[in-house]
Amino acid sequence: MAHKPRLLIVEDEAVIRSGLVDVFVYHGYEVDTAEHGEDGLHKALSGRYDMILLDVMLPGIDGFEICSRIRQQDRQQPVIMLTAKSADEDIVQGLTLGADDYVAKPFSVTQLVLRVQAVLRRAGIGDKPEREIRLANGVVADTENLCAGDTAFTRREMDLLVYLAQHSDRPVPREELLARVWGYANHLEIETRTVDIHVAKLRRKIEADPTEPSALVTVRGAGYRLLVADT
Ligand code: CA
Repeated sequence: MAHKPRLLIVEDEAVIRSGLVDVFVYHGYEVDTAEHGEDGLHKALSGRYDMILLDVMLPGIDGFEICSRIRQQDRQQPVIMLTAKSADEDIVQGLTLGADDYVAKPFSVTQLVLRVQAVLRRAGIGDKPEREIRLANGVVADTENLCAGDTAFTRREMDLLVYLAQHSDRPVPREELLARVWGYANHLEIETRTVDIHVAKLRRKIEADPTEPSALVTVRGAGYRLLVADT
């Protein structure tokens, strides 16, 4: 990864702000915050953030004004507005002023993280995978050409492998894989099986003996873990 995605959270409610900081730090973001409109505007215009989460109701300058000032300066800056619950006018105004997306309060944190990732992906920022993934069993996967030697991967299989590689320090639960690789926020039993099916397909491609995995292992009760080569 080139760098951690840099996130600015402009939110005056301390509980929401600190909750968001925890979640995004956990997901690997570098997070900065502002509580007041003036401070938010000043930081937002610094140009150092990959993504700005912007509350609408702020002391001082409100989120709409900040958003339109950002747009006057930088048409590309990703911005997601945090709007009041079901305030349709807020949503329309925010999007008219150039926000990339909005999330209505009270929001699901999972949903918000997925929205941020989607906007960053569209902007071509963030979780760029390494060109190669070197597995503990000697297999080397080429993430650009979707192959390992002569073995071809589907895009989904490679996305799964990349996500596991980026979190190879721990087992990854099926629900997290569904949310982060497939984008499903609310999982059903049938959907968690989707993960198992793809893991089985991947194992046939990267394991000498798929029944005795040496790289993509099952951690009972915790999920799947990818063992990568020491670098
Ligand atoms: Ca507020």
